[in-house]
Amino acid sequence: MPIDPKAPYDDSNIFAKILRGEIPCRKVYEDEFALAFHDINPQAPVHVLVIPKGRWVSWDDFSARAEDDEIAGFVRAVGAVARAEGLVEPGYRMLANVGQHGHQEVPHLHVHLFGGRQFYAMVS
Ligand code: C5P
Repeated sequence: MPIDPKAPYDDSNIFAKILRGEIPCRKVYEDEFALAFHDINPQAPVHVLVIPKGRWVSWDDFSARAEDDEIAGFVRAVGAVARAEGLVEPGYRMLANVGQHGHQEVPHLHVHLFGGRQFYAMVS
């Protein structure tokens, strides 16, 4: 079920639990601003999620209200993960679903990184 994009941040969401170490993940990267781990239901040979450490529901509240250093740190972390996973050559796809029409299911901002195969025109 897509999330309600207007709902306040829910500390019981699954990615909040991963950030607190209450449930495991297959971590690929961590720094002050972000954590990255393999998606449990990969849609490509490489499918990694990058999440900010702050309590942000989606790209919408993050881009509107996060501090500049947090935004910069997160954006740099996404790029660092892509490089660390060897995705830059021959390339990759990045995606953030927002709210109901974006079909966002987990109410903690996450950027999907997909790689390891050829992608075509936009996803459905
Ligand atoms: O962008 P959206 O919210 O739809 O994607 C959520 C993603 O989180 C899915 O790709 C799902 O497989 C992944 N997920 C995960 N680990 C969990 C729960 C969900 O990797 N424990």
